[in-house]
Amino acid sequence: MLIRVLGSAAGGGFPQWNCGCPNCRGLREGTARATARTQECVAVSADGCDWLLLNCSPEIRQQIESFPGLHPRGPRDSPIAGIVLTNGDLDHCLGLLSLRESHPLVVYATEAVRRGFVEDNVLYRTLERFPGQVTWRTLKLGGEDEIAGLGVAALAAPGKAPIHLEHRAPAGPEDNIALRIRERQTGRVLAYASAAAGVTEEMRRTFDAADAVFFDGTFWSSDELPALGLGTKRAEEMAHLPVGGPGGSLAHLAGVPARRRVYIHINNTNPMLREDSAERARVDAAGWEIAADGLEVRL
Ligand SMILES: [Zn+2]
Repeated sequence: MLIRVLGSAAGGGFPQWNCGCPNCRGLREGTARATARTQECVAVSADGCDWLLLNCSPEIRQQIESFPGLHPRGPRDSPIAGIVLTNGDLDHCLGLLSLRESHPLVVYATEAVRRGFVEDNVLYRTLERFPGQVTWRTLKLGGEDEIAGLGVAALAAPGKAPIHLEHRAPAGPEDNIALRIRERQTGRVLAYASAAAGVTEEMRRTFDAADAVFFDGTFWSSDELPALGLGTKRAEEMAHLPVGGPGGSLAHLAGVPARRRVYIHINNTNPMLREDSAERARVDAAGWEIAADGLEVRL
């Protein structure tokens, strides 16, 4: 299985257009030892020919161009066999509207995520230019779908509906999912949870049996945004388990034996983005990696 990180940042990217936090400022001024990142999107393939996208970021055009494996092989063509949405956040879905150039798309999502994107969304009509432009395939919790030689299973992950849909529908387990992606031929498994407010027993079992685990690296600490004067919400209120601290994911997932353990969906405020920070040293020491755009993992 080939895993190619196209984008590794949380919503807003790094640097974020309206952010003057120490990380974003340092990156712009060249004083921070850090690398710019686009918003989270990952391509996965069993054979290196057909690719499955995990999420579809607002920067999808640039991300496709950045990776020759996703370039057209003919006058009108795309090696993208399907797109999986892990939740309805705009940094995960907005790119779909940019793929409107009359090309058939196959999108896998839970019914809650599909509804949240399609209903009352006049812009979605740009993906209804011809019958069959988008084929939605419903991801059912506990089920497994076969996509281009990969078995894709959806697990409920603690999370929430996107901000623009809050209070429109009751919260449910389909709002946010983790993925278990198994390559049919080799049996190798990628566990993918780019947004998670916690780790369920089912998620933990999946992580423990995976060859690679990608996990939510949004915030280092609960009070990261309030402490920087950038907002009032704690990480948990935004449905993200912080990386650091006694209850953080680094401590919580210490025993996960996967060969590759990678943080992704990293917010621009997270101090572990700075390669010379104490937080980065702790992540390194624990054997976790921090995803950067262009990272490739081969299982
Ligand atoms: Zn920032």
